[in-house]
Amino acid sequence: LEKKLAYIEKQTPRRFPFVNNLNHKSKKRILVTGGAGFVGSHLVDKLMMSGHEVTVVDNFFTGSKRNVEQWVGHENFELIHQDIVTPLFVEVDEIYHLASPASPPHYMYNSVKTIKTNTIGTINMLGLAKRVGAKILIASTSEVYGDPEVHPQPETYWGHVNPIGPRACYDEGKRVAETLSYAYAKQDRVSVRVARIFNTYGPRMHVDDGRVVSNFILQALRNETLTVYGRGNQTRSFQYVSDLVEGLVTLMASNFTQPVNLGNPVEYTISEFASIIRAIVGNNNPIKSVDGIEDDPQRRKPDITRAKIHLKWTPKVPLREGLIRTIAHFRGVLEKSKLTLSL
Ligand code: NAD
Ligand code: UDP
Ligand code: UDP
Repeated sequence: LEKKLAYIEKQTPRRFPFVNNLNHKSKKRILVTGGAGFVGSHLVDKLMMSGHEVTVVDNFFTGSKRNVEQWVGHENFELIHQDIVTPLFVEVDEIYHLASPASPPHYMYNSVKTIKTNTIGTINMLGLAKRVGAKILIASTSEVYGDPEVHPQPETYWGHVNPIGPRACYDEGKRVAETLSYAYAKQDRVSVRVARIFNTYGPRMHVDDGRVVSNFILQALRNETLTVYGRGNQTRSFQYVSDLVEGLVTLMASNFTQPVNLGNPVEYTISEFASIIRAIVGNNNPIKSVDGIEDDPQRRKPDITRAKIHLKWTPKVPLREGLIRTIAHFRGVLEKSKLTLSL
């Protein structure tokens, strides 16, 4: 029987999601660093479905093979298990450079490593882009604005970052990544794109991500108290992942080389946000204020005029709709883990 089953499995072609059939001229070889992570894996889905050849390089620090398992075995897909702090030699046309932990507990876990990833890792990717003549898009962040004194934040604002605080490894790492990009652009004519990404959420966020969206959803689903850090009047603006992916692809294809904010400008206080999640999950868990955290940016909202004008891009998914999809994802993950535990 085993032999028979093995034979049947061999004969049945693997089913992949639908992939567009691109002609040779339009098909690109694309590298996605950090492609097994939350944002990276959604970007990989989009690029693969468009019909491109996609190589993912990831060290699986916060990402997971499961996020890209739908493509393993596809002739257009390749997965390289490697740390980008070591040089990488591949031949590609475009690079989306996303490798870096993004959640504060993750990037603070090994702050020296976070700095190495964003500096040495970025030098390697720019060196690669220079050697092969590839376009490179750097995933920067709203954290380059630090705890902003200008509101909302336009790209022309230089920021207010504590260079020796607990968030510095990430904030300054990304600021150097931007500096490196424009130095390589000027000196070596590397074609760079810089996306300043604001808080993004959606399915495939890590369960232990530690950021506010996954924390509140999991607490609500597990009937626990929702923990608001500090008084809860600090604000954030939340973007659904498909809007971000659309923005990244549009930015890469554009001729615009200055930094561009990609985020949803609808702003909420963290207390309001806790109530919204609780209401969608449909329970009445307590919301509690716990100790605030050091250097927590007090207000954050993107000015997206640049993206609107130069990319004709605006985010489309309303918060409620995005949260419903994300909550459904986390419900599924929790149910699966219950099932595994009871086996
Ligand atoms: P994530 O942690 O889910 O993904 C990061 C990926 O990079 C993971 O797969 C991880 O394993 C990989 N990685 C980390 N260090 C690496 C290294 N040294 N070598 C190879 N791979 C490495 O985070 P995310 O939310 O998907 O963020 C992706 C990118 O977008 C990051 O650069 C992040 O700074 C940026 N960003 C994200 C947000 C957000 O809200 N999600 C906001 C601003 C910026
Ligand atoms: N690099 C890489 N892959 C390549 C080309 C370069 O990883 O295909 C790395 C290389 O190891 C170097 C870095 O990118 O450390 C910067 O390259 P660059 O050419 O700017 O610097 P140089 O090699 O002249 O020091
Ligand atoms: N936050 C919170 N409770 C949590 C996690 C985060 O109140 O369980 C707050 C945090 O203090 C910050 C905001 O939510 O003001 C967003 O935090 P997150 O870690 O998601 O991302 P940040 O924008 O700070 O990088």
